[in-house]
Amino acid sequence: MNGRRRNGKRTKFGLRFTWKDLLLYGFLFFFLLFLMMGIGGFTAGTGSSNIPISKLVSDIRDKKVEDVTITDSRVEITYKNGEKAVSHKEPNTSLYEILKNAGVDPQTIKINVRDEASVNAWINILSSFLPVLLIIAFFYFIFRQAKGAQENIFSFGASKGKTFNKDFSKTTFSDVAGVDEAKQELSEVVDFLKHPEKYRAMGARTPKGVLLVGPSGTGKTLLARAVAGEAQVPFISIAGSEFMEMLVGVGAARVRDLFTTAKKSQPAIIFIDEVDAIGRQRGVGIMGGHDEREQTLNQILVEMDGFTPNEQLVVIAATNRPDILDPALIRPGRFDRRVFLTLPDIEGRKDILKIHAAGKPFVKTIDWERVARRTVGYSGADLENMLNEAAILAARFGKKQIDMKDIEEAATKVKLGPEKKRMQSDEDKRITAYHESGHAIVSYFMPHADPVHRISIVGRGISLGHTLIPPAQDRVHETKTRLLEQISTMLGGRAAEELIFSEMTTGAADDIEKATQVARAIVVEYGMSDLGPINYDKERARIFGEVSQVSEDMQAKIDREMRRIIDQRYEAAQKILKQHRSKLDKVAAELLTRETLEGEQFVNIIKSTKTPEKKAGNKKS
Ligand code: ADP
Ligand code: MG
Ligand code: ZN
Repeated sequence: MNGRRRNGKRTKFGLRFTWKDLLLYGFLFFFLLFLMMGIGGFTAGTGSSNIPISKLVSDIRDKKVEDVTITDSRVEITYKNGEKAVSHKEPNTSLYEILKNAGVDPQTIKINVRDEASVNAWINILSSFLPVLLIIAFFYFIFRQAKGAQENIFSFGASKGKTFNKDFSKTTFSDVAGVDEAKQELSEVVDFLKHPEKYRAMGARTPKGVLLVGPSGTGKTLLARAVAGEAQVPFISIAGSEFMEMLVGVGAARVRDLFTTAKKSQPAIIFIDEVDAIGRQRGVGIMGGHDEREQTLNQILVEMDGFTPNEQLVVIAATNRPDILDPALIRPGRFDRRVFLTLPDIEGRKDILKIHAAGKPFVKTIDWERVARRTVGYSGADLENMLNEAAILAARFGKKQIDMKDIEEAATKVKLGPEKKRMQSDEDKRITAYHESGHAIVSYFMPHADPVHRISIVGRGISLGHTLIPPAQDRVHETKTRLLEQISTMLGGRAAEELIFSEMTTGAADDIEKATQVARAIVVEYGMSDLGPINYDKERARIFGEVSQVSEDMQAKIDREMRRIIDQRYEAAQKILKQHRSKLDKVAAELLTRETLEGEQFVNIIKSTKTPEKKAGNKKS
């Protein structure tokens, strides 16, 4: 979704031959061959008979000969009856004299003399120049190919930025939903681009740089385009990552070029996507080779500082990593306006769904409210993707309209990848069934957990099964209690494996990684552990470079704290599963026969399974 898109035809250094090129090479080859076989080759007169010179003389006397062509010692004869022959004479005697001496009037025939020497000279000249010509041609073609692959070998600094003329950026604010505050802030920029004199008259500092910050897929690129569309100005864009592929020294030249181009077509918007690729903090990090990036960044800063008040240019940059941006970028007069985009809330999702549902045939009964509720955590790009997938699914099954089932499947696919039926042994399936049931049951008995949406033992992407427990509502805060409960749920799969099979499998690796991440964040980032509200991670890392400078003593304490959290949460999961063993068995058995259980089915199984055990009490760590 958010990967770099290159136009893929040419690899970076690969050579690509088109039919036209092949034809050219072929032509060159044959031309060469033709020259080397030489003029001699085609004057060889294949098929004509060889006659002694005396026969020629007598034939001329008999007036049988139409004409002769002499090349050095070689005489080609054309007879009046159309026959041809070849004869040879002494190199230094002329046929003229031979005929005269023989008493034949040379005037009776036509004698053409071809100057062999001059032909030879041409061959000589050609053959000494040809290799040079060929080498030049060779390099020319190679460079042309290479140039195609990396255009800047010759055209240093010619900007790759694409200009879209005024009527091209048809995107407007109405194409972007769920980001009302951002639109509000950007409408100022639009207004400035449309009526700059108004702002200048007030002596207001006009906007120069706007930084769009937000997770990928939240519509940063879209919004930048919309600003250009609303203001009806050209949109000149380049991606930060493109600078990184350039030769040393080219980045800065590109920037210069970009701004020159923009200045020529002002009012205009310059859009630098993925600016974090160049805007990383300078002088930070242990890896070398940041010089190029620094130069590029410096050039951007220089260009932006060099804007005169008359300039009608606004630079918009987008990033999803504001934390690593160089502070120099966000100083006043540069990207001093920051616009934050977040994942859309339920109202936002409803609006985005409305935008992207337009033009697709859905059954009337679709409950968009429910779709919006089900897609907590989906970005605008995810939602667009989801509806597109739903349409593809419906088409594949030959439906006339897209229904809820398609949307549901698409929603899962967008997040987890497509269904993939793997060959699994019965034993493997049993393990997967217990593993997933473990997640679901632990979650069910966690007092603050969201309801289980679905459990499945059908593989998707690289996973063998999945248990979906999407957030039931948009939350601004996560509480410590909920985080700890989540860790238990994540470890529920492994706990079930251990309980049932007295064995551990590699299938839980992903869960364990996630659980560890959350535990770490609790201690190091959110300051929720006994080590107090101190960020041991980022602040120090930022000050001291990319390597964390936590003291060894503190690191040991952090490790111990994480360890304690994980152990406690794993125990809690084990306890629940032991207490509800019969439910676990029942859910796993149902999963094995039905492969997928929807949320209500799961709850029904839980509720209808009588348990001898008493209900687990609320556990807190
Ligand atoms: P970003 O640049 O933040 O990664 P994009 O602007 O490239 O995200 O979004 C990709 C696509 O997702 C857009 O072209 C659009 O179709 C859809 N999209 C993303 N956010 C929104 C939104 N807020 N409203 C409508 N569509 C959106
Ligand atoms: Mg983008
Ligand atoms: Zn799992």
